[in-house]
Amino acid sequence: MKAYDLISDYGRDGSPAKPPTVYRALDFLERTGLVHRISSISAYVACAHGKVDHTAAFLICDCCGDTREITTPTKPLIEASAATAGYRLDRVTVEAHGLCAACQAA
Ligand SMILES: [Zn+2]
Ligand SMILES: [Zn+2]
Repeated sequence: MKAYDLISDYGRDGSPAKPPTVYRALDFLERTGLVHRISSISAYVACAHGKVDHTAAFLICDCCGDTREITTPTKPLIEASAATAGYRLDRVTVEAHGLCAACQAA
């Protein structure tokens, strides 16, 4: 879901959502791990794995936009590389682009 979809959705009852309010809420949800931001398509998705500590990894279909959260064991590898480079990571999101099964068949 895109931020502007949320803004217009919450405006339907006659009281439009204020963009800063929506962005603050999304920022809070992202920090608590309830939603992930997918930068490459400027969208937010509800986390499919709840409170479990995990690397957010997504399969993104470039044709229909279908997005699926998957589990990946890459977090320790990325953290090790980051530590070597002297970085402290706040969050890691893996975004894998391609075509979903339906779009490949079409
Ligand atoms: Zn997640
Ligand atoms: Zn697709």
